[in-house]
Amino acid sequence: MDFPTRFDVIVIGGGHAGTEAALAAARMGSQTLLLTHNIETLGQMSCNPAIGGIGKSHLVKEIDALGGAMARATDQAGIQFRVLNSRKGPAVRATRAQADRILYKAAIRHLLENQPNLTLFQQAADDLLVEGDRVTGVVTQTGIRFHARTVVLTTGTFLGGVIHIGMQHHAGGRAGDAPANALARRLRELPFNVGRLKTGTPPRIDARTVDFSVMQEQWGDEPTPVMSFIGSRDQHPQQICCYVTRTTEQTHDIIRSGFDRSPMFAGNIEGVGPRYCPSIEDKVNRFADKDSHQIFVEPEGLTTHELYPNGISTSLPFDIQLAAVRSIPGFEQAHITRPGYAIEYDFLNPQDLRHTLETKFIGGLYFAGQINGTTGYEEAGAQGLLAGINAALQAQEKDPWYPRRDEAYLGVLVDDLITMGTSEPYRMFTSRAEYRLILREDNADLRLTETGRKLGLVDDHRWQRFNTKREAIAGERSRLETTRIHPDSAAGARANGFLNQALTRDQSLAELLRRPEISYRHIADIGEVRAEDPDVAEQVEIEIKYEGYISRQADEIERLRRNENTLLPADLDYDVIGGLSNEIRQKLQTVRPETVAQASRIQGVTPAAISQLLVHLKKRD
Ligand code: FAD
Repeated sequence: MDFPTRFDVIVIGGGHAGTEAALAAARMGSQTLLLTHNIETLGQMSCNPAIGGIGKSHLVKEIDALGGAMARATDQAGIQFRVLNSRKGPAVRATRAQADRILYKAAIRHLLENQPNLTLFQQAADDLLVEGDRVTGVVTQTGIRFHARTVVLTTGTFLGGVIHIGMQHHAGGRAGDAPANALARRLRELPFNVGRLKTGTPPRIDARTVDFSVMQEQWGDEPTPVMSFIGSRDQHPQQICCYVTRTTEQTHDIIRSGFDRSPMFAGNIEGVGPRYCPSIEDKVNRFADKDSHQIFVEPEGLTTHELYPNGISTSLPFDIQLAAVRSIPGFEQAHITRPGYAIEYDFLNPQDLRHTLETKFIGGLYFAGQINGTTGYEEAGAQGLLAGINAALQAQEKDPWYPRRDEAYLGVLVDDLITMGTSEPYRMFTSRAEYRLILREDNADLRLTETGRKLGLVDDHRWQRFNTKREAIAGERSRLETTRIHPDSAAGARANGFLNQALTRDQSLAELLRRPEISYRHIADIGEVRAEDPDVAEQVEIEIKYEGYISRQADEIERLRRNENTLLPADLDYDVIGGLSNEIRQKLQTVRPETVAQASRIQGVTPAAISQLLVHLKKRD
């Protein structure tokens, strides 16, 4: 039979992790099979139709910098783009796009179907082929055996999935999809630590039954932000308005009246839910003093009437969901098209993984996405990319690659997961990264694209765009450093117009830009050339304005790196080290790490604490 069954890499699951994994491995030249339940659901957004947001857009841009799909698909599918935290510092600025879920899926499918070296096949993977301590392939539901050097498992919420609505529950991978029970059973036979987690989604609403006139309008930003470093706003479809409404005291009373039939409160759900994305019943219960919660009313797309009411995820019985929704201003006549629900699923303790996301027990087997205890498309996509890269590298008998914590949010994400594990769905925040000022979303390409090129992930088009931008940044920086203006010149007179303190001597444009009252646009057209590309201008402005802080962080990283292998004496008395919190002191006393690197990986031991440790060791010497 002329049907391909031997590959370099097999990826199981066509969600956000699986698609990035398969695309990455194939881009790197590995013959790759993407095996998934249903080709129609490739790239499906199981919950909210949005990509990016605080901490998450950093991951999306890193995926993009390494040639991945998520940002490009977002530019083709985004129906509203905003920059969050735009008034705060560049480290925490984040791009968020509301996506048309049909266009998003189409964009991902197009990329998959047109990727050389990639084969798609629709079928459930029910079993893994394992020989000794290595994976050698996969067996499908109908018994087809596929063989490969490496296998990436990205099964999302499907392993042993159980859907709850009120006191009713049934098996499911997400609404409308069957779970992956055979594979879940197989994984429980292997030496992995399996736990249960839970997540939920709100009911969807028919826009034709909603009164938007009582809601607050929320438009996207102008000019429209772009997600991909090689994207453009010309690719964006029509942009639309979102709305904001709120729950009322009546809503909360209705929700409370359903507590006795809540699967969460009745103990039917054992899995822990996402702390930062709680259900509405959880919010009403935990924040009893609050009489209202905000709801963002987000269209699901340009060709559907369905709305996503962001903020009222619930697994309460349907009658309570309906009454609660209809007590919300604007939703009085609302028709629910799909009930909200919670889903419980198996996840595998990520402490059983290496930094490459390869499992410690079975060589060649990688896990990525929600299966590792994370939540969110972006977290899944980033892990998928990393697992795909390493599965391809191993298949090609090359050294593994993974970014450090000071190189990428992807490094932070994986390091957090494998060193600390997780007992609740893990989502990314900027606060998880200690080197935030260096790991900005705007410089993800400068941090990673060169590595991506070396790994074979970045095509000629992206590489050329990147080099043009990098050269333009260097050129503009040097122009600003070398163009000096004299107080008595015409340029000096102009500059004095916007300076708080007038010029008293020659100053470079870079020096002027370091002043808080000056932004790039004030000085852009002083001198001969200026950066036409707003991304170049932004980069130059951030690099110059925050130079002091950035170089301090870079020094700290360098110092820690140099000292990573420094030994910690077995008799070290942590009580006499100044500047450590009691919690950190206690952790160090208990673990008694052997090296500074090991100490830095203990949960809660901050870079500042490591610095104190190093100062103390130096004094001791
Ligand atoms: P998924 O997107 O779930 O994709 C898994 C893929 O694997 C699917 O295509 C599936 O068909 C396939 N598959 C599974 N098993 C097999 C098998 N044995 N053989 C072949 N194919 C298989 N995220 C948030 O950030 N916030 C939220 O509020 C939120 N709420 C959610 C609510 C619900 C009800 C659900 C279901 C998810 C929610 N998520 C939320 C999570 C978000 O959808 C996931 O984080 C993200 O989709 C994970 O991506 P993934 O690639 O790991 O898995």
